[in-house]
Amino acid sequence: MAEPLRPRLLLVDDAPINLQMLEAGLEDAFECRCATGGAEALALMGSWLPDLVLLDVAMPGLDGLAVCRRLKADPALQDIPVIFVTGRDDEADELEGLEAGAVDYITKPFSLPIVKARVGTHLELKRCRDLLRNHAFVDGLTGIANRRRFDEALAQAWALGVRQRSPVGLVLLDVDHFKAYNDAYGHPAGDGCLSAVARALAGAMPRVSDLVARYGGEEFVVLLPGTDFEGARAVAETLRRAVEAMGLPHAHSSAADHVTVSLGAASCLPHLKLVSAALVEAADEALYRAKQAGRNRVGG
Ligand SMILES: [Mg+2]
Repeated sequence: MAEPLRPRLLLVDDAPINLQMLEAGLEDAFECRCATGGAEALALMGSWLPDLVLLDVAMPGLDGLAVCRRLKADPALQDIPVIFVTGRDDEADELEGLEAGAVDYITKPFSLPIVKARVGTHLELKRCRDLLRNHAFVDGLTGIANRRRFDEALAQAWALGVRQRSPVGLVLLDVDHFKAYNDAYGHPAGDGCLSAVARALAGAMPRVSDLVARYGGEEFVVLLPGTDFEGARAVAETLRRAVEAMGLPHAHSSAADHVTVSLGAASCLPHLKLVSAALVEAADEALYRAKQAGRNRVGG
């Protein structure tokens, strides 16, 4: 049986002896990585996302407070809890750390069982927060992600794309002649149609990093981090076929005698001078072209 995934901890301290102690005490329960400075810690998080960071405050170069402020300003990293571990025990320092966005503060010399217990508590709190947020981010009708969730995921994918210089792909799609479907079969059937389309889309997406969301009405959106234009087009075609394969009758569509979707694919390399809305706009224009060309197809 595969070993269950252990939570990831990033340990940051300029004193190697502290890192060794922490790692020795925590590695049985957590997957630990170490960094001996602020810049090294941030660089590591470009490719390896921890579930929690244990962060020394006093370090040469980029100190713990600066690292924490940078994490909290980054949409892709701001939800990672930070616990300061430091030799300082001055009240003002502790307040400064908490104001920088840390969830807790542990002073040296530390007791390993207490460090472990606090890490466990904050991971559990994070898990509950994530659950609550996920609940607020689900579309009530279809059970897939909602628009709010998509907006947040796009901001995160965008920030990550800027940092990693990797493209972000997007597919925007809508159900062909959905108003006619609603008029002919009634709104409950229309709701059933949207749920079925959502299931078909979600079922056709094999990568966990991709997000299928209801964009609004009969419109859906698929976010594809790290995907170029050709890749996004290929995904769009897979989605088109998945919906068509349901064979849901639609006697009032000009596109086919069953439910179909029109799709727009787009991709771009995010950079700081470009807003993510431009990507959505490009996909929307491609979707418009797909409809103009006769629906039940991918526009690029
Ligand atoms: Mg230090």
